[in-house]
Amino acid sequence: MATQMLPFYDRVEDALQNSTLQHALERNMPRFVALRAQALNKLIDEAALRDQARAIRAKSLARLDELLTRLADTVEARGGHVCWATDGKAAGQYIAELAQRQAVKSIVKSKSMASEEIHLNAQLEAHSLEVIETDLGEYIIQLSGETPSHIIAPAIHMTRQEIGQLFQEKLGMEPTEDIPTMTRTARRVLRQRFVQADMGISGVNFGIAESGGMVLVTNEGNADLTTSVPRIHVAIMGIERVVESLDDLAVMLQVLARSATGQKLSVYTTFLSGPTRPGEPDGPEEFHLILLDNGRSRILGSAYAEALMCIRCGACLNACPVYQSIGGHAYGGVYSGPIGSVISPLLQPDVPDVHQLPYASTLCGACQEACPVRIALPDMLLRLRGDAVQAGKVAPGEQAAMTAWQATMNNPALYRAGGTMASIITRLVGGREGVLKQLPPPLAGWTQHRDFPTFAKQSFSERWAAQHGTDEEPQ
Ligand code: SF4
Repeated sequence: MATQMLPFYDRVEDALQNSTLQHALERNMPRFVALRAQALNKLIDEAALRDQARAIRAKSLARLDELLTRLADTVEARGGHVCWATDGKAAGQYIAELAQRQAVKSIVKSKSMASEEIHLNAQLEAHSLEVIETDLGEYIIQLSGETPSHIIAPAIHMTRQEIGQLFQEKLGMEPTEDIPTMTRTARRVLRQRFVQADMGISGVNFGIAESGGMVLVTNEGNADLTTSVPRIHVAIMGIERVVESLDDLAVMLQVLARSATGQKLSVYTTFLSGPTRPGEPDGPEEFHLILLDNGRSRILGSAYAEALMCIRCGACLNACPVYQSIGGHAYGGVYSGPIGSVISPLLQPDVPDVHQLPYASTLCGACQEACPVRIALPDMLLRLRGDAVQAGKVAPGEQAAMTAWQATMNNPALYRAGGTMASIITRLVGGREGVLKQLPPPLAGWTQHRDFPTFAKQSFSERWAAQHGTDEEPQ
């Protein structure tokens, strides 16, 4: 948690210096990338499926008001309640008041990024309500007092040795690094919580407008217990997560599981449709759907509307070389990786250094390539950098450097002279190795984690002139 209080570049530095984190990332990240690639390669026409998924997301966003109204009407017709929450505070207030009205003491929760986004646990705990996470990864980070470091694998930054130690401290478990033993311990503790809970809170992967159904995609079965054992079920859905029909859903499910975990289909794909009806043996007595806006309407009306196509599969995080190096916590918010660098500044523009997140990208395009709905993440990252500059959110030193760079690039003679000087100096210092191990301030950060190659003896323009017999600038 302390790491998240630091300025962005200090968090990055901490992450790069953290050998346990580096070990966990090196071990876990390649697996996700390989599983996704295998799953998509098995499709007969991967490109066509992704195009179809993108078209469905675009269509849903274009008709968002109509689809959400249909969804809400259908949920209410089935006996459910709907809360249109403009922000996180409104959502938290609604749930807290509901819990107080219904004498709720204990709450179980399955994985929900929307609830993380609005810090729901903290809001409910402020009303003396106990909230227990039941997704294993979320439970682990709740025990360790952290936030998720990955959209679909919240505890990916931890090693099993760390988790073993945590369980020993918090659950009184005998020392072990055996994953099945740890899982069994967590399951035993959580089963009891399910039985005691009065309220279950879940996220929603997709809401289906035509049927009023909610779809939850999980691998542990905890969401099914969360939504069926307690007497009240509250589902929190970002307003962008609606699809029109079951046909649309069928396409989205095919790309979601493959992109997230490399599965054809997740172990549990659960369809929920409100409170228990007469004659049904189980299920909640009450169902409440929270439709969370929290800045999404603002994004929908902006140049960044495409970011709302995201289905939170995590593939762009796994593909990103920056995420692979620093993990999720360095981003400072709930959403990390390329999609986090786009939506965090849009959802929470007032967080002090959030405008720096779009710089956490090499713009290599791996995120867009991995995204099942082909969101133009690099374009948006660049545009957000432009917005930050326009808003004057650039350090004075950087502004001065860019002004000097602009002057140099506009003056060929100055550019050539600068290149010649740089070539002479770097080759002199770099010697036979051809690399600089340490640059002086303010460039020292570059060589903290990598070498800087010396400039070539002959510039490209000089080689061009020598080969083509003209010193005309190449176009
Ligand atoms: S931006 Fe694309 S790849 Fe990244 S989480 Fe969203 S849907 Fe997945």
